[in-house]
Amino acid sequence: MKIRLDYAKCIGVGCLDCLDVCPMNVFSVRDDLVVFDDEGCCGCLACVDNCSRGAICLIY
Ligand code: SF4
Ligand code: SF4
Repeated sequence: MKIRLDYAKCIGVGCLDCLDVCPMNVFSVRDDLVVFDDEGCCGCLACVDNCSRGAICLIY
């Protein structure tokens, strides 16, 4: 499964809810942008459900 993050919607360091809710620590911050390594994603959808901007979706 792959993660798609819409950077036009993400508010980045002003939010970081995805970092807080992901049990697999898939997300991190680099150069003030949220980045991710979807190799570790277990598909729990916590990030999708908790992103208030609707910036994350999963591709199955
Ligand atoms: S939860 Fe959504 S808006 Fe917040 S940092 Fe993550 S991707 Fe961006
Ligand atoms: S679906 Fe779950 S494991 Fe995958 S990135 Fe989102 S919160 Fe993390």
